[in-house]
Amino acid sequence: MLLTNRSKVVSKKEMTLSEKLYLPAIATGLGITLKHFFQKKATFSYPEVQREFAPVFRGRHVLKRDDQGAERCTACGLCAVACPAEAITMIAAERKRGEEHLYREEKYAEKYEINMLRCIFCGLCEEACPKEAIFLTDRITTAEYHRDTFIYGKDKLVEPIDQRVDVSLRGKPSGRD
Ligand code: SF4
Ligand code: SF4
Repeated sequence: MLLTNRSKVVSKKEMTLSEKLYLPAIATGLGITLKHFFQKKATFSYPEVQREFAPVFRGRHVLKRDDQGAERCTACGLCAVACPAEAITMIAAERKRGEEHLYREEKYAEKYEINMLRCIFCGLCEEACPKEAIFLTDRITTAEYHRDTFIYGKDKLVEPIDQRVDVSLRGKPSGRD
């Protein structure tokens, strides 16, 4: 008994003369090629031409600093718990006396890593964070040649103190670097 009506009976009939010559088939193929040649291209000449992303685009993460330049993350682990891809790992440490200008809270992330090969850019880490420390931005994750370089540590995640990342640019067409 057939489960669907999509099955097709293939007959082994003799090829006609025109089929044996292949010319009509070649002409049909060339016609399809010509038709696509004059249509609007589906590809972009990146990086000269950048594709406009949807307003809901979520790209590469940033770990934010506060107005004084101290890291906002307090290593509470809520982002890691919320992450459905188990892409986030961290090691917490106690802030020492004299480090108040480096870390905003008494606890901070000594190590914070996101495996970008696991990440599905769902944004749940951003939503879970009570300290407004992690955001997904308008930036694209760079292409790499080795798998281990996709594990982003604090060196790639924490925003440079003199080059703050504007998280409000996400969703704006012209805001991509
Ligand atoms: S965007 Fe989603 S998958 Fe990626 S690290 Fe955050 S919670 Fe995990
Ligand atoms: S980024 Fe936010 S949720 Fe994640 S550990 Fe730091 S403070 Fe907690």
